[in-house]
Amino acid sequence: MSMNSQGRPSAIPALASTNAVTGTITGNRGLQIEEPLIFEQDAPGRCGVDLPEIPPVATRLGAVKPRASVGLPGLAEPQVVRHYTRLSQKNYAIDSGLYPLGSCTMKHNPRLNEKMARLPGFADVHPLQPISTVQGALELMDALAHWLKTLTGMAAVTLAPAAGAHGEMCGIMAIRAAHEAKGDSARTKILVPESAHGTNPATAAACGYAVESIPATADGRVDLDALKAKLGPDVAGLMLTNPNTCGLFERDIIAIADAVHAAGGYFYCDGANFNAIVGRVRPADLGVDVMHINLHKTFSTPHGGGGPGSGPVVFSEALAPYVPVPYVTHGANGFALVEEAGDGPAFGRMKAFHGQMGMFTRALSYMLSHGADGLWQASGDAVLNANYVMAKLEDVMTASFDGPCMHECLFDDRFLKGTGVTTLDIAKALIDEGFHPMTMYFPLVVHGALLIEPTETESKASLDQFIGALRALAERAKGGDVAYFQAAPRLTPRRRLDETAAARKPILRWTPPAGADAVAAE
Ligand SMILES: *Cc1c(COP(=O)(O)O)cnc(C)c1O
Repeated sequence: MSMNSQGRPSAIPALASTNAVTGTITGNRGLQIEEPLIFEQDAPGRCGVDLPEIPPVATRLGAVKPRASVGLPGLAEPQVVRHYTRLSQKNYAIDSGLYPLGSCTMKHNPRLNEKMARLPGFADVHPLQPISTVQGALELMDALAHWLKTLTGMAAVTLAPAAGAHGEMCGIMAIRAAHEAKGDSARTKILVPESAHGTNPATAAACGYAVESIPATADGRVDLDALKAKLGPDVAGLMLTNPNTCGLFERDIIAIADAVHAAGGYFYCDGANFNAIVGRVRPADLGVDVMHINLHKTFSTPHGGGGPGSGPVVFSEALAPYVPVPYVTHGANGFALVEEAGDGPAFGRMKAFHGQMGMFTRALSYMLSHGADGLWQASGDAVLNANYVMAKLEDVMTASFDGPCMHECLFDDRFLKGTGVTTLDIAKALIDEGFHPMTMYFPLVVHGALLIEPTETESKASLDQFIGALRALAERAKGGDVAYFQAAPRLTPRRRLDETAAARKPILRWTPPAGADAVAAE
């Protein structure tokens, strides 16, 4: 293989006569093209533009003078365009198909929101611009804050947190600040139900609290008696998700909130599943003290590979004094920003600057274009779609809990018992059918979980196709065709990967092939 001056291969590997795996001459599968790393496409001296020779100059960098090239690959412009276009087409996205990843609310991102976010007055603002020049952006943030407070019934909000988990951290810091303000330092524990998203115990631990787990009842909800038994003067608060990660509404939520308050604790609600209840129930009316909202879930801003998160946090009257800076106020000369915490009880700020402006714009655009009736319908349709999937699959798969469910439906692997097929095998076979798999092996409260969240933006036709594929796979598994499942996925560019090695020993850095230095030195 020819090597470039940095010792890297300078050409795409030569053609094999027929690729053993694909049976094609190129190794490509139709329009799925094998894509070498950009470094593997490097050719010495190749460049997208012609630049004049640099006249020789004496270096003034002294000891920091570069000793070798930094090793940027040399490619022509069309090569670069093809490389990144091909890579982008390998992504599965909500724009490609149904994305039933439970807990993630992968709903359509309306294009109207994208248009609004690209308006220059929102897209081109700089966080250090004088306040007088960003009045429109501040008005937008103020309007978003207003609607978030209205929809949740809460007294205060911070827009700053960059994601749900960051919002959790903000909420738990507010709870700690509130206890400290009362001189109460005996509260060292946070209670977290077994079914919680992993970010909940991680947040509590990161904030220095011991995490106590609360068991679930046979019907998938928090065990109220077990919770009450753990409450005491050492408990700072409870972190609870509602609807919970089994897709179920916590029926005892008011009794739970009352018990936590009676013991002197605060109630943190993980609001990532707000999509199931938005426009129908106000968390404040359920006794919640503080809750994060994932704008990238409930309010349709793109996430995953598609964009950053945004996790505003709402606060009850009791915790409103602890809301971090910055926040927008109405001053004598228009909108103003409070940037300093001053001597108050608040704990400062969560991040530099003011949050994800593009996400604020998309979320407000979503809210205003839906209106109150539209949001009410969206949450209703999200619940309807999940129940439709559950009802259509219940006879061939095992639903973990009696329905109806909320926005997502949970199955476990009892229907695979004795077949030799696992939850993972079903997920791999679904990929061959052109679907992104559901969330697997979460929540941990059931064995071999399959958590499906269709969201309200899937049509009945697309749900029926997904249901049809899953029904056929469940029946095939029961029919004993283990070999079929163990060989899946068959149609993807890569088949089964060693997932343990990928997680434990990820190779994130390209290094020149062994011996390359010697070749380059010749
Ligand atoms: C998504 C999610 C989170 C975390 O939100 P991020 O924005 O991914 O940090 C927390 N809890 C639940 C229940 C979630 O679904």
